[in-house]
Formats: sequence, C-alpha cells, structure tokens
Amino acid sequence: MIKLLRLSGHAIVFLALTILTQLGGLVYLLTICVAKKYRLARWKTLALFLIGYCFSSFLILPQFSHLLGREPLPWTGELRPLNVTTCLLNRHYVTPELKDQMLRVSAQMQQEFPGSHLQYLDACFPLVDGFPLLPHLSHNDGRKIDLAFYYADINTNKSLDDAPSPIGYGVHEDPKGDEPNTTESCLEGGHWQYGFVDYLVPDWSKDKYKVNKFQTRRLIQLLSEDEATDKLFLEPHLKYRWNLAKYTNIKFHGCHAVRHDDHIHTQVIRPKE
Ligand SMILES: [Zn+2]
Repeated sequence: MIKLLRLSGHAIVFLALTILTQLGGLVYLLTICVAKKYRLARWKTLALFLIGYCFSSFLILPQFSHLLGREPLPWTGELRPLNVTTCLLNRHYVTPELKDQMLRVSAQMQQEFPGSHLQYLDACFPLVDGFPLLPHLSHNDGRKIDLAFYYADINTNKSLDDAPSPIGYGVHEDPKGDEPNTTESCLEGGHWQYGFVDYLVPDWSKDKYKVNKFQTRRLIQLLSEDEATDKLFLEPHLKYRWNLAKYTNIKFHGCHAVRHDDHIHTQVIRPKE
C-alpha cells in the first residue's frame, strides 16, 4: 500500500513537472532512478533534482535547442519576458523565424518608443512538435507566442514597464456599449472556460493601470504588416475600438479558447519544407 502511494506521488510530481516545464518531468525521473540506486536522503534527492534541472535547462538546452528547430528568447533587453518565471519554466522557446520577427519588431518599437520593452508571455516548449504548452493547446510547434499589452499609469499617463496582472493574463479590457461582445456570446453559448483566467488572477492593481492604446495598437500594426506573420488573435471589440478592421490577419480565435482582450496572440507562417 505504501509502495503504491509512493508510486502515485511520483507519478503526480512527474506529470505536474512535465505539464509546467516539459523537461522537469524527465529530470525528475532520472533523479529518482539515481536516488534509488544510491539510496540518497530526501534533501540530497531534492538538491540533485534542482542541480540537474538548472544544468539541463540553463546550460545544455539553450546551446543545443537549435538542433531541434527551437531557440530561446532573450531574458533581458528590449525583448524580454514580463515575468522571468516564463524562462525558468522553459516556456520561452520558438522557431528561428519567430525569434527573428520578435527581435525585429522589438527593435522597431524601441526606435519609435525609446525605453520601451516588448514583453512576452507564454511561447512554446523546447522539445517535440505537437507537445502542448498548457493551457494553450495551440502553442505546440514553436510558431506561437503571446505578448503583453503596453500599459500606462492611469493618473499620470506615464508609460509603465509592467502589467496589472503578474502573469500578463486575466486583467481584461472589457467590451463597451455597442461594441461586438464575444465575451457575453461565448459564455451564453456554454463556453464556461472563456473567462476562467479572471478567477485565477487577482486584479488588486487594476486601478493603477490603463492600456497604452497608442503603443499597443502600433505593436499590432507592425505585427500585422510583417511578412512572417500568419495571424494574430485579438478580441473583436478591441479590433473595432482600435480601428484595426483593415488588417485581415487579425482574427477571432473562437469560443473554444479564452479571452484575448488581455494579451495579443501572434504566430508566424509555417516554414516551407
Ligand atoms: Zn496564444
């Protein structure tokens, strides 16, 4: 019975680490094998896992991921994660084409808005096409990435290098008046998950921030006009409000996904075989 419980515990940790970080599950399995063979104490097993995870994630993988068609995005500079946890969990890997585009667009934004940073959210995992980066089912081939909106101080209008949500998701720009309201129609259609991120992310600091419409709209324009772009997802009321109707590659993602009025999803075209 104790053996069964222990095995179940290992299986749960393995699954959780795989879902969160992809590589972590593999490192955990190897660590458990080594710990069993050498009868390591718990603290030594934990230390071995942490060393193994850091070594493989931060030293080995970034050097060799290009062999698997993926490259890590930078941790610092004009293109950077909104939250460094994205990189610690290996959720910042993309194809070389998407990396090039992100560097190109972030450099252009930096030139037009000196001091600004293009901040990314979840991208993709480093290994294996078709492995989803949950909860984003489509982030499974290195061609997709989510980007944070730009924000400003609601009182002073000063640009902020920050967002009202610590993870970039879950603090929404709600539909107003007679704007298209897919949030309502999707929920009425029984798609309960459409706004579920709202319940996970506190919006304590929502009153301090407002979306920097000018800068965010410019970013969307640059992405829409970039030749590498396949499509972008944005909530229809923001496409309407920000006068982006002429960009036909800005699409509605459908009610099976989640709201896209707290971030931008963009993806590049599939490279020719
Ligand atoms: Zn996305």
